[in-house]
Amino acid sequence: MFEKILIANRGEIALRIQRACRELDIKTVVVYSEADRDAKYVRLADEAVCIGPAAARDSYLSMPALISAAEVTDAEAIHPGYGFLAENADFADRVEKSGFVFIGPRPESIRMMGDKVSAKQAMIEAGVPVVPGSAGALPDDPEEIQRIAREVGYPVIVKAAGGGGGRGMRVVYTEAALLNAVSMTRTEAGAAFGNPEVYMEKFLENPRHIEIQVLADGGRNAVWLGERDCSMQRRHQKVIEEAPAPGIARRLIERIGERCADACRKMGYRGAGTFEFLYEDGEFFFIEMNTRIQVEHTVTEMITGIDLVVQQILIAAGEKFTLRQRDIQFRGHALECRINAEDPFKFIPSPGKITNWHTPGGPGVRMDSHVFSGYTVPPNYDSMIAKLITYGDTRRQAIARMEIALSEMVVEGIQTNIPLHRELMRDGNFVEGGTSIHYLEHKLSQRP
Ligand code: ADP
Repeated sequence: MFEKILIANRGEIALRIQRACRELDIKTVVVYSEADRDAKYVRLADEAVCIGPAAARDSYLSMPALISAAEVTDAEAIHPGYGFLAENADFADRVEKSGFVFIGPRPESIRMMGDKVSAKQAMIEAGVPVVPGSAGALPDDPEEIQRIAREVGYPVIVKAAGGGGGRGMRVVYTEAALLNAVSMTRTEAGAAFGNPEVYMEKFLENPRHIEIQVLADGGRNAVWLGERDCSMQRRHQKVIEEAPAPGIARRLIERIGERCADACRKMGYRGAGTFEFLYEDGEFFFIEMNTRIQVEHTVTEMITGIDLVVQQILIAAGEKFTLRQRDIQFRGHALECRINAEDPFKFIPSPGKITNWHTPGGPGVRMDSHVFSGYTVPPNYDSMIAKLITYGDTRRQAIARMEIALSEMVVEGIQTNIPLHRELMRDGNFVEGGTSIHYLEHKLSQRP
């Protein structure tokens, strides 16, 4: 087992990884930017290294700064968390070539999944159902593009092969708009992702976002740990996640879960990963694979009792993989609300000093947050400051506990989206379960 791990991230996930390391008796090296020097995990770390100024490109995105921090502290492995460099294949490569263990998949797997055209191709070969669309990248010939679109059937969505974070996509409803949309998406994709390649998919009009969590050892062993429903989104950003997904037949989930685990075995996938699907009319359609721990991993932990960050570390350390599919049992229901420092209905970021911070508790309540009274939320990074997770024997109980927990929470000095979450916990359609990815935007557009 490792003696010392460097945590190449910040915020709640830095603390989450640190907790897993401490449980495993592993020393932690925390890196921080000048904006994060007062963070809780910095104080709790065995060693802390300032890696640069507030701007992420000069600190959390600086590969030389991170690798030299690992060198000077004699860390053995690097955990990238999520965001920043977590899905950067070149970083994983450089970490390994510098003699450290990258706690994540092999660089080739990250690279393959980072290109959505090659990711889809790999899924087709592994027998995972994908959204119908072009076979690979779109050609240059305009007539050929029109022919493909007619074959796929309108509406279609044109997507950048190198896209991410909900960017580089365009929905097309008519042939008249097609060629212009393709060339605009190409130009944007070239500028934003350094790869002008685009592909085409059928645009699904009312899907849910359902994803499957996997763990694999890079060899023949892979398991799936159930699904998460992340349909409550705004601008392709998840707001609430839950497990299991309400109202989907277990046999459908089991079938798709098996396919995902099988794909991992075929690809020799190593570590934690997520297969993201759109789900409509009883069918799953793969859209992308995330090769990292995700924000919403907590709800899976609650219903399986398996610590996913500990598992990532054990796999990276080459410990024998002992999880078997039959050992993975699902119990109860879990919800996660992402607490953001922002105006709850206008969504303008609200950084600044938190003058009073009181967190909820009680049965089935989990709070993952690095925040405390007197903490200043820096303006430089993502606005998420906490994840509030509740668990219950039933979905209703998890919702009731979430409502109570949200009502107990006190955050003063900045604005948060807690009022939005409280409204959603009482929303009839959410309470019923099974709303689509467009539900929240639609609801927000109806507000006076
Ligand atoms: P990113 O990597 O940018 O997150 P994804 O491929 O995961 O891109 O798509 C992000 C979101 O865009 C999805 O969650 C969904 O809301 C929407 N989307 C993507 N593809 C389709 C599609 N074929 N039909 C309908 N919506 C889609």
